[in-house]
Amino acid sequence: MSYRLILTDIAEIFTAERDNLILTGGALLIAVDSAGIIIFVGKESDFEKDEPAFRQRYHHLVISAQNRIVYPGLIDAHTHILYAQTREDEYEKKARGVSYEQIAAEGGGILNSAEKTVLASFDDLYRESEKRLLQMISYGITTVEMKSGYALTPDGEIRLLQVADALRKKYPVTILSTFLGAHAYPVEFKENHTGYIDLLINEMLPRVKEETEASFVDVFCEKGYFSVAETERIFTAAKELGFGLKLHADEFNALGGTELAAQYGALSVDHLEAVTEQGIDAMKAAGVTPVVLPITSVFSRLPYAPAQKMIEAGLPVAFATDFNPGSSMSGFLPLAASLASTQLGVSVQDALLGITTHAAHAVGLGESHGKIVKGYQGDIVVMDAQSWMYPLYHMAHNHAWKIFIKGEQVDTTAQIELNGAECDERGATHATD
Ligand SMILES: [Zn+2]
Repeated sequence: MSYRLILTDIAEIFTAERDNLILTGGALLIAVDSAGIIIFVGKESDFEKDEPAFRQRYHHLVISAQNRIVYPGLIDAHTHILYAQTREDEYEKKARGVSYEQIAAEGGGILNSAEKTVLASFDDLYRESEKRLLQMISYGITTVEMKSGYALTPDGEIRLLQVADALRKKYPVTILSTFLGAHAYPVEFKENHTGYIDLLINEMLPRVKEETEASFVDVFCEKGYFSVAETERIFTAAKELGFGLKLHADEFNALGGTELAAQYGALSVDHLEAVTEQGIDAMKAAGVTPVVLPITSVFSRLPYAPAQKMIEAGLPVAFATDFNPGSSMSGFLPLAASLASTQLGVSVQDALLGITTHAAHAVGLGESHGKIVKGYQGDIVVMDAQSWMYPLYHMAHNHAWKIFIKGEQVDTTAQIELNGAECDERGATHATD
């Protein structure tokens, strides 16, 4: 057998596999083969039966977890990290209690970012997005979904998705990109929604298909943004081109977007602060993964989504950061899980499932990512803790000790230091992260 990694001396493993959720008892071992796939999870003594004297034989591949615990590589199923510049001015307004709608009416919000993003060069967008991605990897996040939607012009949106493509080429982390041209109506289409949707369907979507590696199409279905009927037009066109579907719905108002998404076989519906019973039933019947964003609720002083109610209804709820410059300026995914437990009444185990296997389902990777099980990709985080609950309990602190993607160790410190040196020259930008 040819190995890439033999991780030994593990105290506990949160496998994210329902029937065998937590392995305890110490001296556990995970082996990853040379293709990056997990081929053994269990007691060291059992591994030794097939591989006697493995420590000597494969000494160069053996890494000791030194009695720490292990999670599957974390999966952030909902981010908007592709944009230029940050929006601290709005943060100050929020602090004074100005609402999301009011900030948007004053020229802030998505259109504020769009103005800056559309003028930014590819290199600037790349550098800024890369910095955010590297921070996320250092928290133990090994799969990231990232959306366009901060340019709202054909060239600008393509450029954002190509930044995601360039990041995917450079880093081992799994990146899934989503076209969110329907994030808001650009100023020039404020009174001409049909005109923008025509542009989106006739020009943007075919170009996204042709010129980028985006997997999904998403729509912001909300009062003042995209109606259910407008969403349906976009979904129909996107589905014809073979894109997977996602939807921002029920954040402020339940318009029926969740039901529409279920009808169109969307992978996920995200936000759901105002989800209804009918919405929950529709997701359940259609196998849609709900994605809940607790950091957004805290950051933007919004009600929480009824995550526990959805879990009790049998839905596999995922938790994500929604990392974006306006409503959730954090890519620290473990915090989303800690908030799920402390604020949303979700068990620690369901909170962890929400940032691992359920999140994998939300991005269409449920059969290969998000679990520490034989046959899954060897994405593994060793947390500097002795019990599996500890990293969520000791909240808002980065416990990631060693990170492996396909069994290969990721040296995040070197990359972040490199990146940090550059940030320091631009002190103001650094200070906002
Ligand atoms: Zn979002």
